[in-house]
Parts: sequence; C-alpha cells; structure tokens
Amino acid sequence: MITEKIQSLLEETAALTATTAKEVEDLRIHYLGRKGVMNDLMAEFRELPQETKREVGQKLNQLKQSIQAQLDTLRKNLPAEDGKKDALDLTRTPYPTPLGSRHPLTLVRNEIIEIFSRLGFVLADGPEIEDDWHVFSSMNFPADHPARDMQDTFFIARQPDIVLRTHTSSVQSRVMETTQPPIRVICPGRVYRNEAISARAHCFFHQVEGLYIDKHVSFADLKQVLLTFARELFGEGTQIRLRPSYFPFTEPSAEMDISCHICGGKGCAFCKQTGWVEILGCGMVDPAVLEANGIDSKEYKGYAFGMGVERITNLKYRVKDLRLFSENDVRFLDQFVGEGF
Ligand SMILES: [Zn+2]
Repeated sequence: MITEKIQSLLEETAALTATTAKEVEDLRIHYLGRKGVMNDLMAEFRELPQETKREVGQKLNQLKQSIQAQLDTLRKNLPAEDGKKDALDLTRTPYPTPLGSRHPLTLVRNEIIEIFSRLGFVLADGPEIEDDWHVFSSMNFPADHPARDMQDTFFIARQPDIVLRTHTSSVQSRVMETTQPPIRVICPGRVYRNEAISARAHCFFHQVEGLYIDKHVSFADLKQVLLTFARELFGEGTQIRLRPSYFPFTEPSAEMDISCHICGGKGCAFCKQTGWVEILGCGMVDPAVLEANGIDSKEYKGYAFGMGVERITNLKYRVKDLRLFSENDVRFLDQFVGEGF
C-alpha cells in the first residue's frame, strides 16, 4: 500500500547520513530526482481513486518536505572540505565589505544646503535648547499665541521660559542680532513639538529655513529663488504656485506647492488628484521682526522660507511612515546604500 511505503520512506530518509557534498547530491537524485523515488510514488498516486487522493496527497507532501529538510541538514553539517587550502588561497575573491549608508534625512538635507549654497546662502547654526525670546518673542509671536502653549512646546524651565526650539527661526533671530545686512543664511536643524508620535506626526523633526535681508529685496526675488530651488531638487519641468497664508513672522506670507513630480501635474493618488503638492512656507520678513532683532526696517527688507526635511524626503523617496526615520531599522536604512556619495 502507498501509505505504508510513505511511512517506511519517512523513517528511512530520517536516518540518512553523508560525509561529502557528492553523497548528499546522490541522495537528492535518488529520492527527489526526475527518475527518483518521489516521482515513482507520484505516478502511483495518480492512479488512486479520487476519494483517497486528498489524504495520501498530504502525506506525500509531508514526505517530500521531510526529505528536503533532511538533505538541507546534511549539507549544512558537512565537514569543511579542504579547509586548510582555502585559508592559503591568495587568489580567492575578498569577502565583500559591507557599505554603510547615509541617513535619508541627511541626504536630503545636504542636497537642500548644496542648492542654496550655490545661490549664495551660507550655513548658520544655533542651540536646540532656547529661550523664549529667540523662539517666540523676537519672531513676533503674540503673548497668547497657541504655539507657546504646553500642548505644543516642550518646556525645560518656566519664568524665564526655556524651551526645546519649535522651529529653526530661532537661528534666524540669532543671526540678525549679531550681523548687519546683507544677510543670506540657510539654517538646518532639529526641532521639537509636543505631539503624539504616529505615522504622520513626531515629537521631533528637521527643518531648513532660509533668510535673505538686504536693501530692495522683493517678493519676486523670493519667488525666483524658490522656483530655482524646486527645479534643482525635483527636475527641470517643475512648476510652483504660491497660496496666501499666515505666519507671525512674515507679511505677506505664502505656502508653496510644486507640480506633482509623480504624475507631472495630471493628478494621481499621491497628490490627491490635484496635481500639486505642498512643500514649504515663505514670505517677506515682517518689519516688526527686523526691528525686534536690531535691523532698521526702513532701510532693509527681507524674505524668509522654511521647509520640513521629512516632508521633502517623503516626496523624493516616498517614505510613508515618519517613525521609520528615527527607528534605525537596518532594513530601511540599507535601501540608501550608495546614495549621495
Ligand atoms: Zn500626482
């Protein structure tokens, strides 16, 4: 009977041994080869009456898997052949050295900085733990502005208030108070908000802000710089559009969209069929901000813009979950090996 054959083969194959790779291969051919034992059983199986096929079929499958597993084990446990010769083989290809990768946020941040430095912007940096003045007051946030609330901001100390900066605008403020125009800086950095962590929000993220102050700076200058930036980052055919918006530190303020680089503006799921995706906020620096930071607003004007590095990275690499950026999962990070070198 076929079921008895299967049973005895199960026992027989479980006790197989081999000492060389050739022996393992011979066993494989004997049991699993085209003219092997398994195939004979399959031929026998096809002749069976329909009602027994299901049960016998399962057993055959088990047998095949068990033989395969046994052969794998034998192969794995083979004594190393010619071990000594191997160690002395100077012609052998060297082991591949695993390449590290830059973090995707670093890649994108560097690219943004690179584009703006070609446009004449220099790098500026500042502390992540800041006082209220540089984060809020100097940036024209009214005393009762919701961003100053515990709900949105991490406080290190109260009265005087010390906070984790909620935006890199604090760096702009520090530059203005120590430098007279012309000022043309780009401020990349990590910022913090008191938000519940989810796929779309995190308690820390990264921004790049830019500030340009000089005589005769106009909104048209801002628009041209941002258009150049968008085309450098997302490709020659990229279009931009500016929508009126509100920020405490700029007047007028705008949000900028770029034509969806995935569908080319025709409309797709990524851009929610609109053909546009939002990438940054910008505007003319509010004269009150210039004055607060010691710059004569009658003589000078300026523009500023700011973007989230995570946001741009999502657009470029389509990372759907913000948490991936800070979990350090090697399977995620490995995908960026070789990028940005
Ligand atoms: Zn689209």
